[in-house]
Order: sequence, then C-alpha cells, then structure tokens
Amino acid sequence: MDNTADAIIIGGGVQGASLAFHLAQRGMKPIVLEKKFVGAGATGRSSGLVRMHYDTEVDARLAWVSFDYFRNWKEMVGGDSGFTRTGFLQIVGDKHYDALKQNTKMLQSIGIPTWLISSDDVARLCPHYYTGDFEFAAYEPESGYAMPSDTANSLMNAARQQGARLVQDCTVSGVKVNGGRITGVDTAQGEFHAPVVVNCAGAWAEKLNQMVGLELPYDTWRHDTMFVMRPRQAGPSHPATIDFRHEMYFRSEGELTLVGLEDNNPLGGSPDDESDHALPGFVDRAVDRICQRMPIMEQGGLHSAHGGYDGITPDQHPIIGAAGPDGYYLNCGHSGTGFKTAPAVGRCLTELIIDGEVTTVDISSLAPSRFQEGKLIGGTYDNIWT
Ligand SMILES: Cc1cc2nc3c(=O)[nH]c(=O)nc-3n(C[C@H](O)[C@H](O)[C@H](O)COP(=O)(O)OP(=O)(O)OC[C@H]3O[C@@H](n4cnc5c(N)ncnc54)[C@H](O)[C@@H]3O)c2cc1C
Repeated sequence: MDNTADAIIIGGGVQGASLAFHLAQRGMKPIVLEKKFVGAGATGRSSGLVRMHYDTEVDARLAWVSFDYFRNWKEMVGGDSGFTRTGFLQIVGDKHYDALKQNTKMLQSIGIPTWLISSDDVARLCPHYYTGDFEFAAYEPESGYAMPSDTANSLMNAARQQGARLVQDCTVSGVKVNGGRITGVDTAQGEFHAPVVVNCAGAWAEKLNQMVGLELPYDTWRHDTMFVMRPRQAGPSHPATIDFRHEMYFRSEGELTLVGLEDNNPLGGSPDDESDHALPGFVDRAVDRICQRMPIMEQGGLHSAHGGYDGITPDQHPIIGAAGPDGYYLNCGHSGTGFKTAPAVGRCLTELIIDGEVTTVDISSLAPSRFQEGKLIGGTYDNIWT
C-alpha cells in the first residue's frame, strides 16, 4: 500500500468527508484516516437540521452556501443526503424579539428565504403546536433536515471516485514534524506521509493538537436526543423547529419526531464514554417539553434515545484554519452545529489549502488565532445549537 498522499485528513466524519471531496475535486489525492468508520462520531448521532437561521453572518453564509448542496445533492455531489424539506421555525421568547428581527433582516440581506410570521400563522401551519406563548417566529420555508450518515458517506464515495483514499480502523497516534514542517502521521497501520495534515477529529481533536504542541481552548460537549412516535392524528410532518422558550428543538422524520434539549448538555466528558443510551432524566425532561409545545404528543410513545459528542470552543464556533507547524490545519470544534455547514466548510478549507486564500465565505473570524487575540465571536442570542 502506498502510504503517501497530498494531504492527510484525520477523521471520517462529515467534515473530513467534505474536505476530502473538495480536495479531490480540485485534483489533490487526500487520504482520510478514520479510527472506526465513516460517521462513527458526532456525525452518526447528529440530528441533521438544515437551516440558515443563525445570529452571526459567518454561520449563516456557511449554511447558505451548504444549502445549495443539500438542494442539489445529486448534481453537486452524487448519491443522496436524505435532505427532506419540512420548513423551519425559530420560536423565541420576548427577550429575544429584537434579536430575532435583527437576525431575520441579516439573513434576508444575504438572500436567504426567511421572514417573520405571526403566532396565528404558525397555528395555521402547525395546527398541533401551542402558540399562546409567543407573538411571532422566523420561518424558512425551504429548510428541513438531512440524514447525516448518508451525507458523509456520499461525500466520501464521491471523494474516492475522484482519487481520495479512505482507511478505516486506523487511529492516528502521532503527528510527524521535521524542521517546523508537517511530514505525516503515525498510526496503528504504520506511517503515512503528506505535507499537509488536517485535524477533523471532532470531540477527539484536542489530543491531536497536543501532538503538535498546540494549546487551544477546547472541550467536549455531550448532547442527547430522543425519537418519539407521533400519534397518527398529529399529521404526517411538521417543520423543524428551534424553540428557545423550551430550550428545545425538534423535527419530524416519517412517523417519528426527534427532540433535543439545549440545556444540561455536559461538558468535559470522554467522547469514548457510553452514549448508546441517553443520560438519566433526559427522556422525562424532553417528553415534558415536547408535550408543552405539541400537547397531542401526550398520545405518542417513546421510540429510542441516545447521545453523541462534539468538540466545543469557548465561543461555540469552529476552529478553521492553519496553526502550529507548516502544513497543519484545523477543522474542529463545531460546537453542536457542524453538520449543515460541512459542504461549505470543506470548500473554504480547500481554497485555503490550495489557493492560500478563501473566496467562498470569509471565514477569517474562525481562525485558530482568535483565542490568543481575544477576538471571540459573539452573536445576538446567548446560545444556539444544532
Ligand atoms: C446528538 C447531536 C446532534 C446534533 N445535531 C446537529 C444538527 O441538527 N445540525 C447540525 O448542523 N449539527 C448538529 N450536530 C453537530 C454536528 O453533528 C457536528 O458538528 C458534526 O457532525 C461534526 O463533524 P466532524 O466531522 O467534525 O466530527 P465527527 O463526526 O465527530 O468526526 C470525527 C471523526 O474523527 C475520528 N477520530 C477521532 N480521533 C481520531 C484519531 N486519532 N485517528 C483517526 N480518527 C479519529 C472519530 O472516530 C470520528 O469519526 C449535532 C451533534 C450531536 C452530537
């Protein structure tokens, strides 16, 4: 086996797969080294919401560029991302009304199809939602959700068809540097050589950064979700919804509704800990909240519940760019929102690696240097996930 490549990508999640796809599309021959299998990390557990509503322009622009891929997956990537258009609603409480208006304007100025609708409109759109606790919401009629494992696998398949390689069951245990330049990595399957190494290792990324002497503020974030079976009377679908009033989001998938909560997501746990089951107490809290927003769910039933781990940074934004030895790049710390942006991030990082400058979206604010420079990113909402 020839273990030399133009670039080594550590991690076969949706971010590593997107980067491999875009590098290969530009004629490079990358190798993706994945310690388990494609989608084994956060990607395989992701809720897959695809929406553009954000409170910072860089996120909204990355989501908007990515949306073009989700809508045209077959033509732009090949295979299937499972994108399903359900529409998207952002519900907030009165303390966030000004921010909601401001953000909707910002999104419209980018060209994103979104506007404010009244709670009466929401009631017409979603007859089973309780709408008595908010006045208006932001609506994106084109948005919805996609299937994260399918998305990552089709990106990886398309990358391989264009000359990328994937090596699974291959844990990177060391990053090799000579004279301040990246030369390759050590793995359980031997050495791999390349002048470029990209850390796409999600919740495990800090370990790799430490291997090249990079100390960046980084933590792990655990997030549990559950699927409930909707009662038949609740209808065939409902919009993907982020509901700040209940610190919750939910979306439909066939006869199921997926629910996640935005509070009590523990930081600092090992991403290798058991996550096939949700943490104690999660299901009770999630059932209580979904029944408050959709009272008809009291007639539903629990289908399943599990968790997942992502990397998180102090400003809850990803770290994308070069740092440390020449040839070392980071694409990690997606902080619970890095599924929907993966197509655009892979394209931007490819531009940075090959052209030395990024033209698709200005991602300079996401550079690793922002922590040392005290330029943390702030939005108009306190926190938003997914
Ligand atoms: C439960 C949950 C729900 C979410 N919902 C949404 C959502 O609705 N919308 C959204 O946009 N985002 C969502 N997110 C966030 C999103 O899923 C992640 O940001 C995204 O999947 C991160 O992709 P990644 O490729 O960076 O990381 P991962 O998918 O975690 O991939 C990293 C990979 O690196 C591998 N790896 C680690 N260390 C090594 C090593 N030393 N050698 C080789 N391989 C290694 C791992 O095995 C893993 O496969 C959610 C996250 C979670 C956990």
